[in-house]
Formats: sequence, C-alpha cells, structure tokens
Amino acid sequence: MSIGIVGAGISGLHLALRLQQFGIATTLYTAQEPDGIRSGPPLNFVTRFDSTRRREKALGVTRWLSAAYDNAWMHMSVEGPGGFVLRGRLPAPASSVDFRMYLAELLETYTGRGGDTVLRRLGGGTELARTAGDHDLLVVAAGRSAPAEVFGRDPDRSPYRTAPRLLAGGLFHGIAPADPPGMTMHMVPGAGEIHAPAYHSFSGPVTAVLIEAVPEGPFAAVTDGHRNDPEGFTREVLKLITRHAPLLRERVDARTFALARPVDMLQGALTPVVRRGWAELDGGGHALAIGDAWITNDPLTAQGANLGSKLAFQLADELRDHRGAYDGEFCRAVSERMWATARPVVDWTNLFIGTPQPQVAALLTAAAGDQRVADAFVANLDRPDAMWRVVSAPERVEEFIARSQSRTVRSGV
Ligand SMILES: Cc1cc2nc3c(=O)[nH]c(=O)nc-3n(C[C@H](O)[C@H](O)[C@H](O)COP(=O)(O)OP(=O)(O)OC[C@H]3O[C@@H](n4cnc5c(N)ncnc54)[C@H](O)[C@@H]3O)c2cc1C
Repeated sequence: MSIGIVGAGISGLHLALRLQQFGIATTLYTAQEPDGIRSGPPLNFVTRFDSTRRREKALGVTRWLSAAYDNAWMHMSVEGPGGFVLRGRLPAPASSVDFRMYLAELLETYTGRGGDTVLRRLGGGTELARTAGDHDLLVVAAGRSAPAEVFGRDPDRSPYRTAPRLLAGGLFHGIAPADPPGMTMHMVPGAGEIHAPAYHSFSGPVTAVLIEAVPEGPFAAVTDGHRNDPEGFTREVLKLITRHAPLLRERVDARTFALARPVDMLQGALTPVVRRGWAELDGGGHALAIGDAWITNDPLTAQGANLGSKLAFQLADELRDHRGAYDGEFCRAVSERMWATARPVVDWTNLFIGTPQPQVAALLTAAAGDQRVADAFVANLDRPDAMWRVVSAPERVEEFIARSQSRTVRSGV
C-alpha cells in the first residue's frame, strides 16, 4: 500500500508521521525543503491547543513540550465605550511557536525516520492525476494553493464569496506580556479584531500581532501597501493600536516597538471556503482533501491548524482500518465522517466572523462578570463541538452560563 501526500503543512506532516508510525508507506510531495520553509516570511501565527499538543506527543514530537512555549491564559476585551475585559485559563496550556520553525522540524523528523519525500511543487489536475497513478490514494494537503482547485467549492457549506476580514500582522518586540501571560484578543466593534498572543520565534519570545480588518473599515488600510517598507508598516500598526486598542497600547513601549526581523510581517486576505472533500481524477485515481485544501477558515477562532491535525489523525485511522480499495466509495464515506469532525469548527467560526449575534454578546458579557463562565468558555476553544453546541442558540448559552455558575472557580483569579 502506498499513500501520496501533497503538501508539508501541519495536515500533511501529521498524516505522514502518523502513517509512518502505522507502517504504511507514504511519499510526501513538498514544495520546499526545511531551510526554505525557515527562511520565508510568516504565513500565519498559529496557536496549537492541548489536543494538538497531545497528538504531537503521540507522534514522538517533543521539541516544544517545555513550558517556555506555553500560553495558558486567554484574555479578550471589547475596546471602546461600554467595553469589557475577560480572561480565562485553559485547562491545559496552548503553545504558540513560529510555524516556520515547527514545520521545518516536523519535515526533518519525517525524513530522519526514513520518510520518502519528493521536492516538487505539483501543478493542477493533470499532474495530480499522473501522481495519483503511483499510489493507492493521493491525499491533497497543499493548503489554499493550486492543487486544492481540483475539488471545487461546495456552495452548500460555503456562505462567503469574499473575505469577511482583511489580514495584516507581524512578529514584534516591544510589547510586554499580558498579566498573566498568554493570548490576547481585542475586539473593536465595526473595525475588526487585534490578536496579540505571546509567541516564540527565531529570536525567542515575541508578540504576534494579527489585525483582522473589516473590509473598508478603519483597520483596512494597514492590510495593503508597505510590502517593502517594514518600518512604515510598523508605524501604521502602532498608530492603529494607539487609536483603537488602548488596552493593548498600555503594553507597548513605543521606543522599542519593532518587527523582530524585516521579513516577519504578513498582509493578505482569505475567503472562508469548504471545498468538496474528494475528487475522481483523470485516469481513474482518487484524491482526498484535508486541512486548508479542503476547509479554509478565517483565523479568528484559531482553529485551522488544530483542525488540520485532527483530520490527519482521523484519516490515518481510517486508512489503517480499511480493508479493500481506496476508491470513490471509500473517499465519500471517509469525507462525510471527517465532515462531522470539521463542521462545528466551520459553523462556530462563521458565526463569530459574521454579524454579531446577541447570544455571543450575552456569553462574553457573562464571562467578563464571572470567572467560572470565563474559564468554561475558554476551555471550549479546544472543544469545537462543545463550543458550537453552546453558541448555536440563545437558550443553550443561558444553560451554559447557569451550569458554569454552579461550579467552583478553578483559575485562582
Ligand atoms: C494569520 C493567520 C493566523 C492563524 N492562526 C491560527 C491559529 O492560531 N490556530 C490555528 O489552528 N490555525 C491558525 N491559522 C490557520 C492555519 O494557519 C491553517 O489552517 C493551517 O496552517 C493549514 O495547514 P495545512 O497543512 O492544511 O496547509 P498549509 O499550511 O497551507 O500547508 C500546505 C503545504 O503545501 C505546500 N504546497 C502548496 N502547494 C503545493 C504544491 N503544488 N505541491 C506541493 N506542495 C505544495 C505548501 O508549501 C505548504 O507547505 C491561521 C492562519 C492565518 C492566515
């Protein structure tokens, strides 16, 4: 048996490493070598929750176990008049490590354990079809790039046609950690959100500032231009924080506020989409999609990479346990089972990124006023199905608040 995996992001690598553990032969098609991954600009600022960290342990990836990489607290604030602050402690810490370091190391781990890699950026349908002919199944984990187009958008699962947020961010020195240290998210009604988690990059601890801008809103200008002007970009980010996010501004030292390195900035936008989960290729082979190649979420809820890892493990189990051909029927059935895993993430993220819902406001307000609710809400960041069950309806939010308030406080605030 041989599985071809296109793409060395978290989805492709967690799948490749897991199948390697199961003794299933894999070939990983990667567009970049580890040093190429390390030297590029950041493509994201990923926080991995405990369930992803537990999968890393199962994979024998121990590099980021140290508490130095931990983010145990989540702080959220609504800025401006009538605003409020809440903070909750995760039941087990998350970890925020520069993905260029993380992925490069995982790729080296896979090859170091004897994994087969092919350094090639695969093209679209024709090349995928040819490559599929060399394997029993081709898994496309190539993110939002060309190979994903073979699957096509699933309109029933994709409410967006354009990006609901434009993105800009960078890795900065000159921001003091939150108290207690962790992740922060500053919501500015009508403008967007600013995330500022403690982050670990090449130069050690930094803060990853990610601005999510409502298109045409007051944050939008910083998401474009300044591509070759890191200092101008830094000035714009500071101006924006000063004007719109006073709680974050309190942590910034303007004299030392600077990008960790000129390369450490990103700008762009992504349109959330669910593509079809599998495709029959010319020549009769099949391709199955996982990770961003299948489902691209807005980063607001910090779920995409965590979901990619979860799907990789689910798929690895399915591949190990299946008897018979990896044909269209196998792909259809597995993809539907994986959708049951992914759907709460998609629904929850689309709810939070869309028009503000009263039950979400009620939940956040209750969490700001009661530590037990804050801790229970923050714990659900790593339990998308539980989170979606709660936020999907006002009466469930009421029940959740009442249930949380009947518990003893655990965060020690
Ligand atoms: C600003 C930002 C912040 C985010 N924050 C979080 C967060 O806090 N938590 C979280 O869970 N998620 C977060 N996400 C989402 C997360 O980054 C993605 O969901 C996740 O990285 C997707 O992983 P993947 O492996 O599916 O795809 P990718 O990471 O896109 O990996 C795809 C791989 O395939 C390779 N490739 C592409 N084309 C080809 C080709 N033709 N041939 C061969 N290889 C190819 C690429 O080089 C790449 O290595 C964030 C995203 C952004 C943009």
